[in-house]
Amino acid sequence: MKHFDVIVIGGGHAGAEAAAASARMGANTALISLRKENLGVMSCNPAIGGLGKGHLVREIDALDGIMAKAADRAGIQFRLLNRRKGPAVQGPRTQADRKLYQKAISTLIAEQRNLTVIEGEVVDLRVEDHRVTGVCLHDGSEINAKAVVLTAGTFLNGVIHIGESRSSGGRMGDKPSIRLAQRLASLGLAQGRLKTGTPPRLDGKTINWTILDAQPGDTHPVMFSFLHKNPFARQVSCGITHTNEKTHDIVRDNLAKSAMYGGHIEGVGPRYCPSIEDKVVRFADKTEHQIFLEPEGLDDSTVYPNGISTSLPADVQEAYVRSIKGLEQVKILQPGYAIEYDFFDPRGLSGGLEQKKMPGLYFAGQINGTTGYEEAAAQGMVAGLNAALAALGRDPVHFSRTESYIGVMVDDLITRGVSEPYRMFTSRAEYRLTLRADNADQRLTPVGINLGCVETTRAVEFSKKVDALDEGREILQSLSFTSKQMEARGFKVRQDGSRRSAYALLAQPEIKLTDLVDIDTSVIAINDETLEQLQREALYSQYELRQKTEAAALQRDERVTIPRGLDYGAFSGLSNELVVKLKAVQPTTIAHASRIEGMTPAALVLILSSVKRSQKTRAAM
Ligand code: FAD
Repeated sequence: MKHFDVIVIGGGHAGAEAAAASARMGANTALISLRKENLGVMSCNPAIGGLGKGHLVREIDALDGIMAKAADRAGIQFRLLNRRKGPAVQGPRTQADRKLYQKAISTLIAEQRNLTVIEGEVVDLRVEDHRVTGVCLHDGSEINAKAVVLTAGTFLNGVIHIGESRSSGGRMGDKPSIRLAQRLASLGLAQGRLKTGTPPRLDGKTINWTILDAQPGDTHPVMFSFLHKNPFARQVSCGITHTNEKTHDIVRDNLAKSAMYGGHIEGVGPRYCPSIEDKVVRFADKTEHQIFLEPEGLDDSTVYPNGISTSLPADVQEAYVRSIKGLEQVKILQPGYAIEYDFFDPRGLSGGLEQKKMPGLYFAGQINGTTGYEEAAAQGMVAGLNAALAALGRDPVHFSRTESYIGVMVDDLITRGVSEPYRMFTSRAEYRLTLRADNADQRLTPVGINLGCVETTRAVEFSKKVDALDEGREILQSLSFTSKQMEARGFKVRQDGSRRSAYALLAQPEIKLTDLVDIDTSVIAINDETLEQLQREALYSQYELRQKTEAAALQRDERVTIPRGLDYGAFSGLSNELVVKLKAVQPTTIAHASRIEGMTPAALVLILSSVKRSQKTRAAM
């Protein structure tokens, strides 16, 4: 019988990252997937990153993972989202060429030492003394391992819905995993059903691009990987169009035929990624919704219409799509559909994503109730590292909420569980001013180097970067300017007679280094990239301290009791979504409120101040 240290089941986004991480750690790893040529397939939108998600990709890169490298190789339109807002909430995103992305993942997996790819279907788990010790394949063969990572995505008991028709499938064109799902059900782990949907794919040759607006990428594209400076592929624009009243009428008139609204699907869907049916019902007062027409590849005319996922019948899809400007003559290459699948309650997992009831078995990705490639890959990293550590007889690694979005996500999953597909937002992080996409390497690469999952090339580059930052910081801290000098330059600073370092002055966004360079030319010894990073660091240094103090105060306040019947609807600044949840749960303490899924630190502060105000009023009476 073959034997590996670690077996990873599934070659999607969680699986590829888990297998690569385990192998980098030095564990002899096997990646078993249904089809070898399907490693890294993007089941839905051809894009990586975005708000919150882009942070996860940078963190994966900081640990020397493969998602960022592949996204850079495949990126055909890079955009830094929220460019006008502060760096803490900016999210790198790229439109990816599907084929190039898959090719990049396959190449990175093939180049990875200690990693063997096996094509096959895992149908059973080998269990000895309540511990998972390997897997059984559909051809009857068995493979032993010290740890097994399961990343089966939407394949477990997957059912595809298009209108009233339903068929079994892991995603369009792939068989579902039925036998493995049955075996998992027998383990007695808490499980449920979730759903997600995808829009129809359009033939770009039949779109009237001439009457549509174009959205180009950034003039200066920002890469995902800290090792890359420029895009690899030719860059293209996306098109923009909108739904209209006619589109909404067609959707509304056919709601009963929709799988989501016709009562054919029991699973809960992602509220943050609403289908066109959801949009028409939930935002009934809106007369249009924006649609991005995203090319799926450089040598592929397929277009992904981002914003109109659906489970309506194919003929209705054609009717509503053709009611949209520029799509009057469009040909649908593949209808949109919804998929329903099994997931397992992530509260059964440890911080290393190991099943507490079944040692040796790790879960990562969509089967833990998340949605999205980036969330899947980040969990793959955690599970892959921990499976390798266990196999090598070492202690597990846990990522904390204070050091990474990866830590925020794992903690959310294992403590709060999910009631709908979980996706990452920057608002989920208490320490988001410190957890920036731009400093992911400074936060996590040292962790990765200590663990042993960072290869030499990155370690050397990182050490050079840290040296440059240290030197630059030292120069800036050693240069000081009087308030008079600054005033003479036209800057408003308090006239208190004190001297301020260049580093401290940079915390004021209106002061640029170039303004100071005129005063003392020695700062030009710092290169542009280092200067930019130091400026971001300086900008946030004052907030970081305040944020940590606030977080500590919040921890103290968690025991505060919330009076019954608090009128959450009257709070300004609370999202509708949270008002609904708060009314339903009626939390009794701030700690209780903090565990409501989707609760944000800002919302907790609002509730807390209202409670404190009402306490003061009562005391005064
Ligand atoms: P997957 O990428 O699904 O990979 C699972 C892998 O496991 C596959 O390689 C499969 O071959 C393999 N596998 C399964 N069973 C076995 C077995 N028994 N033996 C061996 N190998 C096995 N995300 C969004 O962020 N936004 C969206 O709008 C969105 N819409 C979606 C719509 C659809 C229709 C689908 C299918 C997915 C959608 N997603 C969306 C989700 C996104 O595709 C997933 O979150 C992501 O792919 C999950 O990654 P994963 O690694 O967990 O699983």
